[in-house]
Amino acid sequence: MTENTDLPAVSDKQRARIVAQPGLEVPLLPRQARAATPRPQGRPLRVDPCRTPSTTTAARTLTLPLSEVFGPTWQGEGPYAGRRCGFVRLGECNLTCEWCDTPYTWDRARHDVTAECPPTAVADIATAVTNLDVDVMVLSGGEPLLHAKRTPACALGVLLDCTPFVSWHVETNGTIPPPDWLVERVQHFTASPKVGTRDPEHRRLNPRALTAWRELCDQGAAAFKFVCRDEADLASVHSLCARMKIDAAHVWIMPEGRSAQAVLDAQRDLAPRIRDHGYNLTTRLHVLTYDDRRGV
Ligand code: SF4
Repeated sequence: MTENTDLPAVSDKQRARIVAQPGLEVPLLPRQARAATPRPQGRPLRVDPCRTPSTTTAARTLTLPLSEVFGPTWQGEGPYAGRRCGFVRLGECNLTCEWCDTPYTWDRARHDVTAECPPTAVADIATAVTNLDVDVMVLSGGEPLLHAKRTPACALGVLLDCTPFVSWHVETNGTIPPPDWLVERVQHFTASPKVGTRDPEHRRLNPRALTAWRELCDQGAAAFKFVCRDEADLASVHSLCARMKIDAAHVWIMPEGRSAQAVLDAQRDLAPRIRDHGYNLTTRLHVLTYDDRRGV
């Protein structure tokens, strides 16, 4: 492998977090190879991005704050729990949830966020995605929609255009309405609005964004996931769903907990009420399996 000096410098620490060793070329699969790759079941993508020389150039120059790329693993939460996949975790968030399990992506009071999530060339991220050999990638954070600019020519849009051989799922806190170009390129969104956390309600719950997510749920392209610690949180979810006319069939309730025992305890406590309200239940498979370990 030869070094390409056109690419931004990548620190050793950062390379260690990119589990699949990145190559130095944007991964260009032949059209035939991509066509032969089976598309996972679910909503078909509405576009078939085709790379161009300008996309390749953009991938080498545009960057995203990357926390980690890891996999193969399984989606641990929500309607796709148990699905084999890989993860791309980006830095920055617009909320400050006290029980956040990824504070290193945004909490500058406790972490060196710039070192944790250094600017990384889209080309390196795309290569790491290619090397994972999975057909579903989950884009998470932090809050990944902070990087979804108005135009698909932004770094995130270029990343998705460079990786048409995977189906992208996006996990968001639901505060930002998705731009049309992102909806066209993503197979599934999980919107996870926060209830009962310390941020003021006007920052946590954006009616315009919630309406957009509800409409995507109705189209089969999204689901809501709410983290609940106790019955008070569950009551807040119920009130929000009534106010925003969110169908219970599109709602997954997830117990909060960063150890297997804490998840099981909350799950057992809340299960009867979740059932009574007509919601779906999701556990946290990665926490049950690995507790609070990163990158698994
Ligand atoms: S929205 Fe998600 S990433 Fe942001 S602080 Fe809350 S739990 Fe953490």
